[in-house]
Amino acid sequence: MPIITSEAAIKYLCEGEIVAIPTETVYGLAANATDDKAIAKVYSLKNRPQFNPLIMHVDSIEMVEKWAVISKFTKTLMKEFWYGRETSISFVLELKKNHPLSLLALAGLDTVAVRRPNHPITLNILSQISFPLAAPSANRSNSLSATTVAHVLDGLGESIQVIDGGACSVGLESTILDVTQDKMKILRLGAVTKEDLEPFGEVDHGKYGEAIKAPGMMSRHYAPQRLLKMNVLKKEEGMALLGFGVCERVDLNLSMSSDLNEAAANLFRYLHELDREPFVSIGVTPIPDVGIGMAINDRLRRACSEE
Ligand code: AMP
Ligand code: MG
Repeated sequence: MPIITSEAAIKYLCEGEIVAIPTETVYGLAANATDDKAIAKVYSLKNRPQFNPLIMHVDSIEMVEKWAVISKFTKTLMKEFWYGRETSISFVLELKKNHPLSLLALAGLDTVAVRRPNHPITLNILSQISFPLAAPSANRSNSLSATTVAHVLDGLGESIQVIDGGACSVGLESTILDVTQDKMKILRLGAVTKEDLEPFGEVDHGKYGEAIKAPGMMSRHYAPQRLLKMNVLKKEEGMALLGFGVCERVDLNLSMSSDLNEAAANLFRYLHELDREPFVSIGVTPIPDVGIGMAINDRLRRACSEE
């Protein structure tokens, strides 16, 4: 059986492996949120054709403060909803500079969604590790979210390591609240409602059900400032060339061994690194459009079309 103890889970997570964890909302597919390679495995397992930003799971406000901006107002909300009422709400915050989080987990955004999962097993694990856990729902893309261990195993197969924390008590994804602007904005509706938030200030409800499914749908998503070209075979004047597999004259290589997981892990970091003088453009050599390669190509296409 792939059911493991919390101690084993902590060991696996520290080694960059993935573990399905119980939360009060749904089971999460958890990985070290500061480890690009571990995050690439999460996207691969979920089989998603796009990278969407993952929610960071934490056990304390102090942990979040290390890498995101928490206003006094937001802290009041966190205390009330995370600790007081123990409800399921994720906050979208501004990131601090030089944060340690995986750019892949953030899908290249400069904001981050954080949540304190209200489940004793997962809170206990979080209290024993020094990094947040990125954890999207433990199911394949376009399938129902898993709310029991049986669902997790049905959806992801018997090779997944999972902690049995019983059936999820809420069974519905968290409310996502953007607190980066003056007015609170609900990006996704969950257990916490507009009425719950209104006593604290004005609430804008974006378009329900239209929380950012892909970073390209957001105004503040990552695209390099330089012109980006895909499927480049030959380096042009002033171009930084980002390679994949065996190729010559590249400035950086996403994966010399043509490993798509490794390429995904390096993608956002390398684009950042090449988005600088003296380069005037960034060229990317062809990436196979299979598996996680589809998500890489989707991200690159969006970054190209915005120029
Ligand atoms: P889940 O499917 O519960 O793992 O939640 C992931 C969803 O959270 C993403 O698809 C986005 O809709 C939302 N999300 C995560 N990070 C951000 C962010 N920085 N800004 C806005 N929405 C976010
Ligand atoms: Mg889901």
